[in-house]
Amino acid sequence: MTVIVEKFGGTSVGNVERINAVADHLMDKHAAGEQLVVVVSAMSGETNRLIDLANQISESPSHREMDVLLSTGEQVTIALLSLALHKRGNDARSYTGGQVSIRTDNVHSRARIQNIDSARIVRDLEQGRIVVVAGFQGVDEEGNITTLGRGGSDTTAVAMAAALNAQECRIYTDVDGIYTTDPRIVPKARRLTQITAEEMLELSSLGAKVLQTRSVEFANKYRVPLRVLSSFEAGEGTLITYEDESTSMEAPLISGIAFQRDEAKLTIRGIPDHPGVAHKVLGPISDAHVNVDVILQNASEKGFTDLTFTVPRSDYPVCKKVLDSLVDELDAKDTRGDDTIAKLSLVGVGMRSHSGVANLMFKTLADNNINIQMISTSEIKISVIIAEAELEHAVAALHQAFELEK
Ligand code: ADP
Ligand code: ASP
Ligand code: MG
Repeated sequence: MTVIVEKFGGTSVGNVERINAVADHLMDKHAAGEQLVVVVSAMSGETNRLIDLANQISESPSHREMDVLLSTGEQVTIALLSLALHKRGNDARSYTGGQVSIRTDNVHSRARIQNIDSARIVRDLEQGRIVVVAGFQGVDEEGNITTLGRGGSDTTAVAMAAALNAQECRIYTDVDGIYTTDPRIVPKARRLTQITAEEMLELSSLGAKVLQTRSVEFANKYRVPLRVLSSFEAGEGTLITYEDESTSMEAPLISGIAFQRDEAKLTIRGIPDHPGVAHKVLGPISDAHVNVDVILQNASEKGFTDLTFTVPRSDYPVCKKVLDSLVDELDAKDTRGDDTIAKLSLVGVGMRSHSGVANLMFKTLADNNINIQMISTSEIKISVIIAEAELEHAVAALHQAFELEK
């Protein structure tokens, strides 16, 4: 029994014509002997449309009700795709996350999958059915509908593949694989035939939304054979590999460039430099449920220091308020903020065994007159914070400097 999980994203099921094309594709695979579990997203634009409706009614809609609302998008596409398969002669069955027991924790809007009961799916497969499952959704212990965070259908697909011990998980999307950077921004970007899970994890978490970060974490944990391909044209796509350290010696210096536009930067200046400053500033930010990303504390000058950090842009207003309220309490000078910044990151396991990456990166940005505001590094990545207006220019310049088009 060759179980394959195939996932189709929003654009791939964006209208009736596309749904029919996906059904044709699935019938071909089924005829070739594959037992298929298909995970689908909502039609492109639908999740955003639903969010917009909720925002017209409430400024702070309840997360629980948002999950009930957003999960409807995927319920539409599973039914339509199943109808298209019926018309082609397969007795397909559609299932919501709850119906196939995709059990999650109870953190609405970013729930984590804990368990999948695959018995019902296996029974259908054995009867020759194509099984169509709603992506992005599950249910918690009490039966409340949960969702897995934006882009979460990728994670449903990978988790499903792990639960069914599938031979492969194929993520079909609107580009024909994983590129050296977003091909919509750099037309010269090159498709990679393969990429290590470790690098893909960094690229995703640093902004490349082609795969949801959690799906790569899941794939890595359970070693799920994972491939990203186009639903519009035939091709090999990109394979995620699970190589060990030894092979990374010959790896290219840089595999890809990721970026995130929706960032903001805050600074509190002139704080008397005592032990505990970072805790006193970042504690209240964390209490406001904001995830801080890059942090920079200046070397103390005459007993005073500045602390700068970045947060998601949507959290900027609340963080600015928190920071302003700390000025008196900490006897600081003032606060500054900028919500027009972006983060750009170079990723590559080759960095481990080569030096000079940071140097070429900084030189390229300097030659292009792009100011670096903050820097953060780890073993296989270097990130810089720059003005959002300069992002595309910077990505293109670095893509060329590191010869990624070759
Ligand atoms: P889907 O709706 O199929 O889930 P997404 O929009 O979530 O598709 O992800 C695909 C998009 O990811 C592409 O259209 C592309 O613009 C973007 N993307 C960002 N970085 C990369 C990259 N390195 N390689 C390929 N695509 C990327
Ligand atoms: N429909 C959801 C979203 O737009 C989930 C997904 O497409 O993966 O984020
Ligand atoms: Mg996606």
